[in-house]
Amino acid sequence: ALAQLFEAQKLDTIGHLTGGVAHDFNNLLMAVLGSLNLLKKRLPADERSERLVTNAIQAAERGTALTQRLLAFARRQELKPQAVDFLRLFENVEDLLAKAVGPRIEIRKSIPVDLAPLLVDSNQLELALLNLFVNARDALESGGAVTVAAAAEESRPAALAGGDYIRISVSDDGEGMDEATVSRAAEPFFTTKGVGKGTGLGLSMVHGLAAQSGGSIQIASTRGKGTTVSLWLPVAETFVKTQPVVEPPVTEPLT
Ligand code: ADP
Repeated sequence: ALAQLFEAQKLDTIGHLTGGVAHDFNNLLMAVLGSLNLLKKRLPADERSERLVTNAIQAAERGTALTQRLLAFARRQELKPQAVDFLRLFENVEDLLAKAVGPRIEIRKSIPVDLAPLLVDSNQLELALLNLFVNARDALESGGAVTVAAAAEESRPAALAGGDYIRISVSDDGEGMDEATVSRAAEPFFTTKGVGKGTGLGLSMVHGLAAQSGGSIQIASTRGKGTTVSLWLPVAETFVKTQPVVEPPVTEPLT
């Protein structure tokens, strides 16, 4: 089977998407509210009908209040990017990630000690890792391995500008996804996990973080073989500026 590649530039950021859904939903609720209010005026004066319509109006009003909050959330996403040592960050959360996936899943890592620092919000990156690990666990019903790798790479998604990026990937050898699932996986609220199990917000959060950090995400998956989610994140500016300068050796004048 062919690996299905998902280029993140197909999507807008989570903020835009969540905001878009909330916005459309809000408009629909407004139409519902308008009709209900008209209906209330035209109703014959009987108590029961009036109560039913009033209930419907109140529910729709609660709905609009909710979509307002969702819109506010979509706009708020404030990140605090800083220089992050990925190896250290990963080691700080490794125990937590191991607990999240459980004892039947082996965690492997391939992170060079001299990796350049990333420019990213470290709390959000930890959350993103947790989301990716939970997805890997769900894809590995009968156990397996999750591998975290980080490397400076020349190849990168076409959408990214020049500059230095680090590729961080989380791979599992689990059930994988078919083409249709891969293409929708990062959409907010898209889930195949059933009611109460998935929120459909994991990968869209990861995508949103990458996009807002000036990076990108790529999902490669093969049904029955496994999945690799790659994040390209920019190298911290400060590092680029302070690359070790090779000074000529200081020589003492001969006497
Ligand atoms: P959720 O995990 O709540 O469903 P996500 O946005 O994290 O939400 O994932 C969306 C969907 O993408 C999942 O329901 C699943 O179908 C698919 N998916 C994500 N990660 C993997 C993975 N590692 N292996 C297989 N399928 C995955």
